[in-house]
Amino acid sequence: MAKSKPGRSGFSGYTLSKLSLNVIFLIVLVVAITVHGSDSSSSYTRRPQPSNSKKLTKPVVLLISSDGFRFGYQFKTETPNIDLLISRGTEAQTGLIPVFPTMTFPNHNSIATGLYPAYHGIIMNKFTDPVTGELFNRNLDPKWWLGEPLWVTAVNQGLKAATFFWPGADVHKGSWNCPKGFCKAPYNVSIPLEERVDTILNYFDLPQSEIPDFMGLYLDVTDIQGHKYGPDDPRVTQAVAKIDEMMGRVIKGLKKRKVFSDVHVILLGDHGMVTNCDKKVIYIDDLADWIKIPADWIQGYSPVLAMNPRWGKDVKNPAEKNAELVAKMNEALSSGKVENGEFLQVYLKEKLPERLHYSESSRIPPIIGMVGEGLLVRQNRTNAQECYGDHGYDNMFFSMRSIFIGHGPRFRKGKKVPSFENVQIYNAVAEILGLQPAPNNGSSLFTRSLLLPIGETAQVE
Ligand SMILES: [Zn+2]
Repeated sequence: MAKSKPGRSGFSGYTLSKLSLNVIFLIVLVVAITVHGSDSSSSYTRRPQPSNSKKLTKPVVLLISSDGFRFGYQFKTETPNIDLLISRGTEAQTGLIPVFPTMTFPNHNSIATGLYPAYHGIIMNKFTDPVTGELFNRNLDPKWWLGEPLWVTAVNQGLKAATFFWPGADVHKGSWNCPKGFCKAPYNVSIPLEERVDTILNYFDLPQSEIPDFMGLYLDVTDIQGHKYGPDDPRVTQAVAKIDEMMGRVIKGLKKRKVFSDVHVILLGDHGMVTNCDKKVIYIDDLADWIKIPADWIQGYSPVLAMNPRWGKDVKNPAEKNAELVAKMNEALSSGKVENGEFLQVYLKEKLPERLHYSESSRIPPIIGMVGEGLLVRQNRTNAQECYGDHGYDNMFFSMRSIFIGHGPRFRKGKKVPSFENVQIYNAVAEILGLQPAPNNGSSLFTRSLLLPIGETAQVE
């Protein structure tokens, strides 16, 4: 599906000109050089030797996602357990940058595969493939899921993996067939968070050879409350306290089993959350004086306007018509005569800013509208107006950021690193587990800047 395949560790498939434009990459490069100087010869490909272990003699990663945990939520209330992980671990100082679109399925799959959505194929939570006309609505057919997620990389290379509700983990791929007992699915909102955490903790009671090397745990309460009430509601503060309580449960459970200092616990989220309200709406029918746009050309209104115009058979050059349509829409939106028009900009997908990495897939509809932060797009004023929390907007918006905290032997204590994109996580986890990563959009240099070299493990109490 991806026209140009990304190379291993993000280099061979990406042109130098693309990389040179990537500010984050440059920051990471500087950090990597600063941290390692000329001592960059240590092996990152050998299977890590156990070190500083109290009980476990193999590296173990517990990757926890708190859906919709916006960066800054940790300041809403007392979060002693998250604070403990931060103070004794490594934190992305101003949050983890999601991929565009900042939706749940694209981002969980980018975290798991290290690929941008254009390459892992899950370009939105729900979409219609413009070529085949098939609908993706969280389907489990492996044909939709193009990347290699961490649990597949792990089992393909002889390690053990376990997942609890991680979006996409119930898709059968490679040696991974979502084994009963180690792959909790399908997602069921009514399963209490305590049960999810305890299921993971119980794996540590198994004989060491049976303990999964990789575990992925999905918690949803911050996203659910954020959508329902918006990010500033007291019920979101309660949800944050609940996540902290669950982190306390994780820490206590690992300590009880005497493995807290051995396990790499990573807490992150897939995206942030912003309030969108009825006063900030762009109505497509308001563009009618410039161009009439039928509702059936629009696959999604907001936070991403996704359009696949259905030109008649008499139209010889649909690409040209699409370009004309985009020009007309932008003329209308910038005219000053369309309410909130300045908060929507429409692009042919191949003309989208390169930083979004959102063009090289035939699944992406030909026309994409970038919607202003917290704005809604609707067809016309007869639609019910609404006010709630949402995400999916441009990943440049700070409100779309989530958190990243890493705690365990390979993470420095009390370290802050600059914000980075979540496509970097895959390589970092693969490195900790001693796995050969599948081709992905992350950078091996970044991994070196994030993790301690093997043998230089942190003293974590
Ligand atoms: Zn989400």
